[in-house]
Amino acid sequence: MLKKLFQSFRPPVPGQHHRRTTPEVINKSQHSLQRHQFSRHAVNIVERLQSAGYQAYLVGGCVRDLMLGITPKDFDVATSATPEQVRAEFRNARIIGRRFKLVHVHFGRDIIEVATFRAHHSDEDQGDSHRSSHNASGRILRDNVYGTLEEDAQRRDFTINALYYDPVSERILDYANGVHDVRNRLLRLIGDPTHRYQEDPVRMLRAVRFAAKLDFGIEKHTFKPIRELAPLLREIPPARLFEECLKLFLSGQGAIAFEMLVDLELFEPLFPASAHALEERPTYTHTLISQALNNTDLRVKQGKPVTPAFLFAALLWPALPARVLHLQNQGVPPIPAMNGAAHDLIAEQCARIAIPKRFTLPIREIWDMQERLPRRSGKRADMLLDNPRFRAGYDFLLLRECAGEETDDLGQWWTDYQDANDSERREMIRELGSRDEGSAAGPRKRKRSGSKRKRSGDEAFE
Ligand code: ATP
Ligand code: MG
Repeated sequence: MLKKLFQSFRPPVPGQHHRRTTPEVINKSQHSLQRHQFSRHAVNIVERLQSAGYQAYLVGGCVRDLMLGITPKDFDVATSATPEQVRAEFRNARIIGRRFKLVHVHFGRDIIEVATFRAHHSDEDQGDSHRSSHNASGRILRDNVYGTLEEDAQRRDFTINALYYDPVSERILDYANGVHDVRNRLLRLIGDPTHRYQEDPVRMLRAVRFAAKLDFGIEKHTFKPIRELAPLLREIPPARLFEECLKLFLSGQGAIAFEMLVDLELFEPLFPASAHALEERPTYTHTLISQALNNTDLRVKQGKPVTPAFLFAALLWPALPARVLHLQNQGVPPIPAMNGAAHDLIAEQCARIAIPKRFTLPIREIWDMQERLPRRSGKRADMLLDNPRFRAGYDFLLLRECAGEETDDLGQWWTDYQDANDSERREMIRELGSRDEGSAAGPRKRKRSGSKRKRSGDEAFE
C-alpha cells in the first residue's frame, strides 16, 4: 500500500512548471460533474455573486471529491468580491480569521466559506503587515493579498485543489493541470515544492492527508523535500496542528496516514515522545497505535462517533512507561509516579499540539482506568462498570492486550463479567478472592496488606 503511495511517480506533465495564464476549459460534455451534486446553498451564493457582477466559483475539495465520486465534506466558494463586498451581499454573513480573512455565510446550520481570490505576495506587499507577512524561514504569517482568479489558482497547494467549477456555465477552469492529476491519481504541489513547504509547512501534512484519504500517489518532486523540511513543523502554532491532526487521524484513513507520517519523518515533530517510544519499542508501539487507528477508521466508515481523547490516549501511552520508571528511580512511589508522568507527558505534548482540556481530562481518565481495572474485589467491579469512562477504559485495555501487553487475561475477565448475570458476577468476584488467596503464601496477612495498598492506590486516582 505504502509502496504504491510513494512509488507511483509518474512523469511530469509537459509544461507544468510554466504558469498558465489561460486556463484549460473543460466543458459540460467533457466532465462528469453535475450542478445538483453541489450544495444548493453554495450554488446559490455563486449565482448571487455573479449577478452582482463579481466572478465566483466553487473550488477546492468539493470539485476534487466529486470528480472522484466522493461526497464532499464542505463546499468552498472563491470570488473576486472582497470580504466586505461579500458581507454586503448576504444577510447572514460574518467575516472571520486574521491570518486568512474569509466570510462565513450561514444557512441555518449549514456554513459556506467564501474566500476572496488571493495572490502570491510580492516584495511590495511585505511592507503592509496587515495584509502580508512572512517570518525568517519564509513562512506566511498573514495571507490577505487579494488577486485575480489566475493568481488565486497559483497560490493554492495541490493541482487537484485548484479546479474551479462554474455552476452557471457548468464548466471547469483548470490553471494547473489538475484534471490530469485527478485522472492519474497524483498529488502535485503547484510551483517549487521546497518554497511552497517553506511558505506553509502544514502543506506537508496536507500531502499525507490527501494521499491517505484519496489513495493518491505523491509526485516525486512533491515528495522529495519532505523529510528534510519536516522539522519546520515545529514552528507551526500548536492550535493549528491540533486541527490538522484531527483531520489526519479522523479522515477514515488514519492508519495509513500514520504509516506515511512515520515514513516521511513527520511523526517526530508532531509527537516527539511517542516517536522516541517507537524507536525504543517499535513492534509494541507500532501495533498499539495502528490498532487504535484501525478501530477508529472502522468506526468512521460505519458512521459511528469517535473521540479524539481515546486516540490521543493511545498515541501517547507507549511514551508513558519510560517516564514512570524515570520518576520511580528518583524515589517517587508508583502511583504518584504514574500521575506525575501522565501530567508531564500531556503538558509536553500540548506544547506541540494544543489538545484542548475537554480532551486531556478524558485522556487522564482512560489512563487512570488502566490502574483500576485490575482491582475488582468487593464492590469495586460493579462500581467500575457504572463509571462513565468504563467503556473507554475497557476498550483501551483490549487495545493494550492486542499490542502484546501482559495483563493476565484481564480483558477476557471483563468481557465475561459484562455478559454475566448477577449470581454469575458474584461467583466471579468470589473466585477472584480465592484465586488471590491461593496464590499468596501467607493468605490472611498478605491479603490484608494487599487490599490496603490497593485502597490507597485507588484514592490516589480519585
Ligand atoms: P477537505 O475540505 O476535504 O479537507 P479541501 O481541499 O477542501 O479538503 P480545505 O482545507 O477545506 O481543503 O481548503 C480549501 C482549499 O483551499 C483547498 O482545496 C486549497 O485549494 C486551498 N488551501 C487550503 N489550505 C491551503 C494551504 N495551506 N496552502 C494553499 N492552499 C490551501
Ligand atoms: Mg474544504
